[in-house]
Amino acid sequence: MPPAVAPRIDPHLTESVPIEAAKCRWSDFPCGMIVWDLSPTGITRHLKEQHFDDIVNIWQDRKRGDCRWSTSGQPCRSELYYGGFGKHVASVHLKSVSCKCPACGRECCRLDALKRHQRETCVGQAPTDN
Ligand SMILES: [Zn+2]
Ligand SMILES: [Zn+2]
Ligand SMILES: [Zn+2]
Repeated sequence: MPPAVAPRIDPHLTESVPIEAAKCRWSDFPCGMIVWDLSPTGITRHLKEQHFDDIVNIWQDRKRGDCRWSTSGQPCRSELYYGGFGKHVASVHLKSVSCKCPACGRECCRLDALKRHQRETCVGQAPTDN
């Protein structure tokens, strides 16, 4: 009897995913991968690499298609340009681009990144005397 090949996916792994990463929920061809870069660029890159190819399922920024990111089991189905998928997923589904520094207008990926920015690198701090 050949040795069974154990699946290499550790169920505990998903629990240790840092807050900046999210599990891909693109439902057409679920890849089960963790998307580590939740910026629009990172998500676009993941979609291009894992869910589109150069032959039948061609990625074209100017082509329109449905968002197939699933939320509570249903694909979102918003119609968008492919080029807008990354930003849409980041802002609508992952809320990863929703933080903007009120002082200098810089967009940060997450709230904790924004706080660090304000503490360490913000240059546009407005006076806080109401
Ligand atoms: Zn994926
Ligand atoms: Zn969507
Ligand atoms: Zn700032």
